[in-house]
Order: sequence, then structure tokens, then C-alpha cells
Amino acid sequence: MSVWVDLQGQESVVAQLRRAAQSGAPTHAWLLTGPPGSGRSNAALAFAAALVCEQPELAARGCGVCKACHTTMAGTNADVTFIATEKTTISIDEARSLVRKAHDSPSSARWRVMIVGDADRMAERTTNVLLKAIEEPPPRTIWILCAPSPADVLVTIRSRCRTLTLRLPPVDDVAALLVRRDGVEPGLALTAARAAQSHIGIARRLATDAGARERRDATVRLPLNLRDVTTAVLAAASLLELAQAEAASSNEERDAVEKAKLLESLGAPETGTLPPPLRAQVRALEEDQKRRAKRSVTDHLDRALTDLLSFYRDVLVLQLDARGVTGAGPASVELVNEPLRAALQEYAAGARPETTLARMDAVNAVRRRLTTTNVAPLLALEAMAVSLL
Ligand SMILES: [Zn+2]
Repeated sequence: MSVWVDLQGQESVVAQLRRAAQSGAPTHAWLLTGPPGSGRSNAALAFAAALVCEQPELAARGCGVCKACHTTMAGTNADVTFIATEKTTISIDEARSLVRKAHDSPSSARWRVMIVGDADRMAERTTNVLLKAIEEPPPRTIWILCAPSPADVLVTIRSRCRTLTLRLPPVDDVAALLVRRDGVEPGLALTAARAAQSHIGIARRLATDAGARERRDATVRLPLNLRDVTTAVLAAASLLELAQAEAASSNEERDAVEKAKLLESLGAPETGTLPPPLRAQVRALEEDQKRRAKRSVTDHLDRALTDLLSFYRDVLVLQLDARGVTGAGPASVELVNEPLRAALQEYAAGARPETTLARMDAVNAVRRRLTTTNVAPLLALEAMAVSLL
């Protein structure tokens, strides 16, 4: 099983990365871009694995079975450094330590691979620290930067990288991935892939966590209960609570996995008291996780609003379909929220497309306010919910 197998729907990017890894002399700086959920980090890890793979034959690199491939995909290979902080930004100290590390020769592999998972979350001053390392890289170091789009990275960095762009994979490909990789039942995989609108990480979470599914379902149903100002205010409060609960639950899952990985990589005993130097590392991780949790509520609230938007998106599609605009014919348009079709149809029949568009604008406006200003979330959501009436 090769390291590329989970990158369905990205044939052109995979072909280029594979060719580079098998060429023996790859470009030393890469920028992988694509919308959130398109699998940028997965692609970066697969490329890294193919670079450090132990197969002697160039054409066999990225085998997916050797120790180097395995440890890279698990995030524990000593020659592959992955920095993907979900704190607000990558700090200048982290960038400096990354640059120092880039100058170490690889311990066992041919290449040292440095992956920056959120190259868009760096201040300009931090980026400048990386710039020199990317301009004049140590001979056996390869940089892989990931960002939503080339425009999110300073032009000075961008111009020194080879840029490849991933697309959001089709729903069917995401569903197939969940079935094969995570053992999800096909029907559930398809529903989750649709509901996540092809965001691979969210689709996996929806497919494997019943609580996450229930919270999303409750979010999407909120418009069905909007009748007056009182119900609107209640809906706003529910929306915030659902996003907070989802943030807490997904953080808890990830924090535990990260801690287990850290302890394993430190060779720490499974039980008992940790020796002081290890304790310091665990504490540093826990502090990172706390910082991340703060940002995470905003991210999850944005996600919940995207889910809410998908309700109106489906309503609009049904309204346009009823007018013969989509040309798809009755009941054949694809809905993001297929299980809600009957309720969506009823809702669609009771409103005009112009109204639906205005409601979508109201949701998008609050998303912008929440990510760009310091407005109190509940107040912003209440104002939005009232305008959805
Ligand atoms: Zn291998």
C-alpha cells in the first residue's frame, strides 16, 4: 500500500510529487495550497514519506510499508519535522528553532524534511526568519509549506517555492476514503462526506463520532424553529453552545492523541511519575493545547455557521429547482443535508429565493464579523438570528 493511497481526487498533484520524490534530485522548497480539508497536510506527509522511504530503487520510493514510511505517516520520524500549530500564529522562536533544525543533517534518511502546516499563520517578521533558510537551504533539506492559497504566503517566500494546488475532492472520493481507511459503513460515509462538503477531517469526525453528528444535526435544524424574536434569541444561544461543545469534544480527542504520541516518542513509561525533563515537555504541550483551545471555539463557531449556511444553500437549490432553473428535474438535485430533504422542501416552498439569499448574506456577514472583529459572539449571533426570521 503506497503512501499516496489516501490522496484520492488529487491525481495531478500526486503525480508531480511522486515524480519529484522518485527523481533523486527534488526541488528543495514546495508550497502546497488548497482549501481547508483538501488534505494539504496529508499530501505533505505522503511526500515526506516518499522522500525518506528506505526502498533502494527510486521507482519504489513511497512504498508505505518500510519503517521510514510508517513513522513519517505517524508523525514520529526523526528526519521529518512537522510544525502545525493551531495557535493564532507561529512564533518567531518556533521559526528559529525550525531553521536551526533544518541545518542538522538527516540522521538516517537521504533528506531532512521540514513541513510547515500553517504557513499562512506566520507574522511577516517570522516569515523573514524562514526566508533565508529557504533561499539558501542546507544541501539535504527539503521544505514543504502548506497554506490555503498562494496569496496567503509572502511573495518573497512564494517565489522561491514550487507551488502545487490541491482541490476539494469529490464527495464520492471522500466517502470511499472513509470506508477504506477508517472502516466506516458506506451509507454513513456518504452522508458524512456530503454533510462535511468534502472537508476530509470533518467528514471523518462526523462519520466516527455520534456526538459530532448530533451537534451538527441540531445546528442545521435551527432555522426550522425560528418563529419570533424569543425563538431567535434561543437559537443564537443554542448555536453558540453547540459550537462550544463541539470544540471541547474535538479538542479532548486530539489532545489525548497528541499526548500519547509525545509520551511514546519520549519513550516514557505508560504509568507512574514522569522524570522531570519529560514532565517539562508534557507541560509545554499542554500549554500549547490550552492556547489552541481558545482559537478553536472561533473556528468551530465558523464551522457551525457554515453548516447553518448549508441549510439555506439546500433551500435555495430546491427553490431554483422548483422553478426549473437547475434543469436537474424533481428530487434529483444533490443536497448537502439529504436526510433533511422533506423538511427542507417544506421550508423552501414557504419562502422566496430572494429571501433565502438575504438570509445567506446575514450568515456570511456574521462569519466575517466574528473572524475579523472582537464582537461578543452571542450578541452577533442574536442579531443574525433575528434577521433570519
Ligand atoms: Zn517506504
